[in-house]
Amino acid sequence: MQFISTRGQVPAVSFSTAVAQGLAPDGGLYLPEDLPSVKPHLADWAALPYPALCEAFLSLFATDIERSELALIVQRSYGKFDHNEIAPIRKLSDELHLLELFHGPTLAFKDFALQLLGNLYQAQIARTGKPISVLGATSGDTGAAAIHGLLGKDGVRTFILYPDGRISPLQERQMTCTGADNVFPLAIQGSFDDAQTAMKTVFEDREFADEVGLSAVNSINLARILAQCVYYLYAFFRLPVDQREQTTFVVPTGNFGNVLAGWLLQRMGVPIRGFHVATNQNDILHRLFQSGVYQLGEVAPSSAPSMDIQVASNFERFIYYAEGEDPAKVRQIMQTFKSSGSYTFESFDPGSFSSSRADDVSIAKIIREVYAKYDYVVDPHTACGFVDLPAGPNLVLATAHPAKFPDTIRAALNIDSTHPSLEALKEKPVVKHALEPTPEAIKAFLRANQ
Ligand SMILES: *Cc1c(COP(=O)(O)O)cnc(C)c1O
Repeated sequence: MQFISTRGQVPAVSFSTAVAQGLAPDGGLYLPEDLPSVKPHLADWAALPYPALCEAFLSLFATDIERSELALIVQRSYGKFDHNEIAPIRKLSDELHLLELFHGPTLAFKDFALQLLGNLYQAQIARTGKPISVLGATSGDTGAAAIHGLLGKDGVRTFILYPDGRISPLQERQMTCTGADNVFPLAIQGSFDDAQTAMKTVFEDREFADEVGLSAVNSINLARILAQCVYYLYAFFRLPVDQREQTTFVVPTGNFGNVLAGWLLQRMGVPIRGFHVATNQNDILHRLFQSGVYQLGEVAPSSAPSMDIQVASNFERFIYYAEGEDPAKVRQIMQTFKSSGSYTFESFDPGSFSSSRADDVSIAKIIREVYAKYDYVVDPHTACGFVDLPAGPNLVLATAHPAKFPDTIRAALNIDSTHPSLEALKEKPVVKHALEPTPEAIKAFLRANQ
């Protein structure tokens, strides 16, 4: 199978090339040239354990990786999850289920994709013999998940920039207490935007990028989306049989990466009823689904910080299909949006999507209500998924463990939410490197640590 760019200005590439490049050279995002139909496989796949299902699904796309190698990559990727089902379903009531996506090493759903990406990178390095330096900037969860995905991988050095003093102490510990000697958390003396601006300049220096084998770890990598398709499929098979095709998947959303994976799976022939896009107060996607206008707003920090996003970078993949797989139209839309901060769809069809918005007051209220009603503690991101639910059975994706956000939980419930892996971190030494947010300082640090 080959992969094309949403902007259509580069030739199709193999799976491994699409994964290695992340972003396509024309600025577009990679997608399969033709989406395969998974319908013929549904009966055979229904009872597979998580890793076997993942291997079978990915084998439709990763056609340039040997099946035996793919099996090993997948096994390693889900070996560090603390639940034998990897993505267990919990029943709250007859028509309300939760899909727990927080059993990975950093207790958030991003582990599903970044554990796999780390092992794909390692396989690629083994094949090419070329070491890589991964550079990323984070305001929280992604950095921790990336670091844990790349921990101890031969030939990979990971450099993650974050704003010193502006991420939660637990998030900082997840990045800085790994004890791994190939991981370099860089505490930037400045804001997240300062870190990101300096990082972009470093990537633009092609000579330097080649010298250190620079690679980005970001939310637009195709492998991340495909890895996420698997838990939708796994959950679909484990819903009560009479509810499978009636259930709406409810997805706390920021970058549109998580929900896009489910929607692609629906396009591949899995009869999922629909998707509910749950945003926090940064509601660009909720406004879009209500009005057909995609309009940038200011990011307002919320108690669900991993969804504090206004430009949903994965949305371009949705636009590609929604606009009839026409790369010229995608280029025009992205150009208009970039120059004016807004795009109005001529005839926007939300299809099987619905949406909602939760501000911080309703997040706290929901955490209390869910606890009172079901004796279950949801994290602030998952809480957004309990607003304006469509009629019929719903499955809410629980994207993080509540213990990652102890202050919000304590404020809402007056209880301490803890997790052994986070408690263990408190005993370990913090190793971080203070750095000025300038391209020169970043380059000097990377050169000195090759
Ligand atoms: C990243 C993240 C989200 C948002 O996911 P998107 O793919 O950006 O929509 C939601 N919840 C948690 C806990 C996250 O870390």
